[in-house]
Amino acid sequence: MAELEELELTVRGMTCDSCAVHVTKALKSVEGVKDADVPGWQWARATVVAEDGVKAEAVAAAVREAGYSATVKSRKPAGGPAPQDGRGGSQFDLMVIGAGSAGFAAAIKGAELGFKVALVEAGTIGGTCVNVGCVPSKTLIRSVELYHLAGQHRFRGVHTSPGRINWSEVIAHKDELVNDMRQAKYADVLAAYPEITYIQGRAKLTGQNGVEIDSRPYAPGKIIVTTGAEPWASPIAGLNEVPYLDSTSALDLKELPKSMIVLGANAVGLELAQVYARAGTYVTVLEVLPRIAPFEDEDISAALAEYLEDEGLRVVPNFKTTKVERREGRYILTGRKNEAEVTFEAEQLLVATGRRPNTAGLGLEEAGVKLGQRGEILVNDLLQTHNPYVYAAGDVTGRDMFVYVVAYAGMLAAENALINAGRVYDTSYIPRITFTDPQIASAGLTEVQAREQGYEVRVSTLPMVHVPRALAARDTRGLIKLVANAAADQLLGAHILAPEAGEMIQTAVLAIRFGITLSQLRETMFPYLTYAEGLKLAALAFEKDVAKLSCCAG
Ligand SMILES: Cc1cc2nc3c(=O)[nH]c(=O)nc-3n(C[C@H](O)[C@H](O)[C@H](O)COP(=O)(O)OP(=O)(O)OC[C@H]3O[C@@H](n4cnc5c(N)ncnc54)[C@H](O)[C@@H]3O)c2cc1C
Repeated sequence: MAELEELELTVRGMTCDSCAVHVTKALKSVEGVKDADVPGWQWARATVVAEDGVKAEAVAAAVREAGYSATVKSRKPAGGPAPQDGRGGSQFDLMVIGAGSAGFAAAIKGAELGFKVALVEAGTIGGTCVNVGCVPSKTLIRSVELYHLAGQHRFRGVHTSPGRINWSEVIAHKDELVNDMRQAKYADVLAAYPEITYIQGRAKLTGQNGVEIDSRPYAPGKIIVTTGAEPWASPIAGLNEVPYLDSTSALDLKELPKSMIVLGANAVGLELAQVYARAGTYVTVLEVLPRIAPFEDEDISAALAEYLEDEGLRVVPNFKTTKVERREGRYILTGRKNEAEVTFEAEQLLVATGRRPNTAGLGLEEAGVKLGQRGEILVNDLLQTHNPYVYAAGDVTGRDMFVYVVAYAGMLAAENALINAGRVYDTSYIPRITFTDPQIASAGLTEVQAREQGYEVRVSTLPMVHVPRALAARDTRGLIKLVANAAADQLLGAHILAPEAGEMIQTAVLAIRFGITLSQLRETMFPYLTYAEGLKLAALAFEKDVAKLSCCAG
């Protein structure tokens, strides 16, 4: 007989007693569900007893079909044993493999729960974010942005001549920040957790809960794999025969090239393309898909492409590279655009076509951990792999490659592995930022996704020219697009293109996560002249012509 599990759900959109009845009925209709309890519509929650393996998505879909929305917050064995302590009779209760952001979060959570933890690192402590990701890229972006602003006619109407950027100084400042932050946020942090033993070495799984680190065997109670990902290049003829930049080496280029081709127009490619263009390199961005920022809202992609072109970047979507060559110190990329053969040429080539999980040589499959087609570790919604002793979190799972998501995943995996907490990995409100200027910030569903999921969709699009803060800053580039569930008056997605979009999105994230209605957003005070006020104006734009509003979005 199948084991039974108890699932705790958050349910949104219930407004009366009969809603609770409808949700109960919907939950009971899911195959494998044995019982469902909705204590009352006011509580916005439900408990389900179901056969082990009933998918969280199936439960959420049934509630959605009934006109409400639900997310599974946790799952645990029904009437099962009290949380276990995860001790395996070994020196360590938990071994975390990979000391990046996911690994640190998992190890710290394990220590806070009172367990003995080993944190293993083969390379540099801190992993991608601090060494070759978020930190170096964002400080380069900021340095070049300041230089760019100084040369703008439109900024306060004053024209200053910035002169030539001192690139080697910019790179030296970046290195200084990386070193300081690695020390402060990773190396020094370990000292505060005596329960964590840091082991420098390359780990490999050797069985159900066996690990070998540089030939030394261990048998920890549980294992969390957080080995991250590395730059990956599309298979293109000739590419393997030439040296090229990836996101890591592009953050450390000692001299500015005169021209550069950036292959791939997702977040990393676009951010670095603009950095180099603003520093003085002639940049061509090539993207195989029909638009840049291909996974963002279409209106946002189109607007950003225009802004980048206005700045002098060449943006070429729909280009399929078929051959890469290097002649006389230059890169020649040949490919097809709209059936015609086209060639691009530049002094440097940056390949930003994605990242691949670090799973090779880890002994995973031999230990019963299954991998997906891109080498990513397959996990269930508790982040447990097919080997019950092994969990995985972060970029190595091949999804949601943002540092705050991997840290959340690391903590969740530790709680589930060590105290059987039954916490479910929730991706319903993840904010995504592309740090171009203007920035793209989004959360929740795009208009297309919302329609595909069968919602009754309403959309409000507000150009930034209606946001007083943007007018005052003399920079009205961008737009805000809100996607709403008309039936529930709730936000399903928010998509912003604006200079400070990353700061604005959090209001929308809270609204999506906690089911704040559009009416509540409209009735909430937002401080005048702030970019965040744009969210309120966009919410008002569902009902009113915002061009006719007086001060403070009345
Ligand atoms: C250019 C760039 C810019 C980015 N900008 C942002 C941003 O602005 N905001 C944001 O949220 N995210 C950003 N990201 C993404 C973010 O950096 C990653 O999602 C995050 O750092 C991944 O963390 P992780 O712990 O999963 O993996 P990592 O940080 O990569 O850690 C994995 C660690 O495991 C180690 N390891 C591998 N194999 C073994 C082994 N066998 N034994 C022991 N150790 C091993 C590795 O050496 C590494 O240190 C950016 C990424 C890049 C590349």
